Amino acid sequence: MPAFRASILDFIANPYETGEKSFRYFKDGLLIVEEGLVTACGDFASLNKTLSAEIELIDYSGHLIMPGFIDTHVHYPQTDIIASHGSQLLDWLERYTFPAEKKFSDPVVAQETADFFIRQLLCNGTTSAMVFATIHPQSVDAIFAAALQQNMRLISGKVMMDRHAPDYLCDTAQSSYDDSLALINKWHKRERLLYAVTPRFAPTSTEQQLKVAQQLVNEFTDIYLQSHVAESPGEVEWVKELFPWSRSYLDVYDHFGLLGDRSVYAHCIYLDESDRDCLAKSGTAVSFCPTSNLFLGSGLFDMQSALEHGLRLGLGTDVGGGTSFSMLKTLHEAYKVSQMKGYNMSPLQGFYMATLGAARSLYLDHKTGNFETGKEADFIVIDLNATALMKRRMSHCESLEDELFVLMILGDDRNIKATHIMGECRYQRDNLKS
Ligand SMILES: [Zn+2]
Repeated sequence: MPAFRASILDFIANPYETGEKSFRYFKDGLLIVEEGLVTACGDFASLNKTLSAEIELIDYSGHLIMPGFIDTHVHYPQTDIIASHGSQLLDWLERYTFPAEKKFSDPVVAQETADFFIRQLLCNGTTSAMVFATIHPQSVDAIFAAALQQNMRLISGKVMMDRHAPDYLCDTAQSSYDDSLALINKWHKRERLLYAVTPRFAPTSTEQQLKVAQQLVNEFTDIYLQSHVAESPGEVEWVKELFPWSRSYLDVYDHFGLLGDRSVYAHCIYLDESDRDCLAKSGTAVSFCPTSNLFLGSGLFDMQSALEHGLRLGLGTDVGGGTSFSMLKTLHEAYKVSQMKGYNMSPLQGFYMATLGAARSLYLDHKTGNFETGKEADFIVIDLNATALMKRRMSHCESLEDELFVLMILGDDRNIKATHIMGECRYQRDNLKS
């Protein structure tokens, strides 16, 4: 049974609603873990007295412990096309994404990439993620096997796609049902793994396939659904042509019963008020993916509207359209996008969104996202002085918020000193190469 000493920060509420009361901070804190779960979190001075002799005290003094980051939208098969030059969404899919995803019919390629991807998550301080695989069932086996090896809480699923993609990447409504069902039976709720029904986006599924997705969601009440919506103007126009009866892009998914608890949609840029009301009422979550939205020239997400509507909101790296596995860099871009929309995102709001807010968006806040007693002890150790510039800048900070803002703007994987999953150290910056 280990205990960890460091400065400790976690969130207990949404800063948008509760401001300063949203977080707990222990300058000299102690986090006690038993069998992978948090048993206590508080001031070192008071908790230290309760420690029995057999407790192993791990001293991270001078560093900041936070709950691990949760990436709510990312594509592991696109790891090798990150930073591919020059196009917008629909062109990018054809030029880079589809040829890259073709390779995942080979289980050896899938496993090697999945293992690398999981190591990237860990060295960036990401302890949970909601992940797209490809249409190939073996690509789902590979990512779940890699996550299982690290005992990670991870959500993934087989992409469903039966039109407007190359033949080599198309399934059928029936085969997508059969394959998804087999994968659900094999992986859903195995250890910490969860399955998501994964239609890529409305344009690449026939109405028949969207009905099949609905059928799967209805057959398993605790299953997830992940997809994309309203990412780029060209895509929105295309959806209008393909589904002329729909009121909006989001309405297509609503029509097929694909909104609700445990449904997560990436992007959500081109929405109107009734779309946002519909997301709020149905409990559907949004994944804000600033680096990919900027990189593909898609548009600027309206975070303030999302907060005003009380939407369940997480942050996604969206690699490979996204340009970094680092949630710190993703927060940095989220801040800039919000600035462009006239909303000044506070660092508290940002780190909430990357931890407890994300856990809430995935309906996992009873398990993870902060250090309440009984939660799974997924946490990261942050070195606030990882570079000469950060060390210098940090020395001028006058408050925790100042420090968090510098971390959010200047930080990256160099700040992640260690990543712990269920209390166990799975990555250490200084002695593990990724
Ligand atoms: Zn995506």
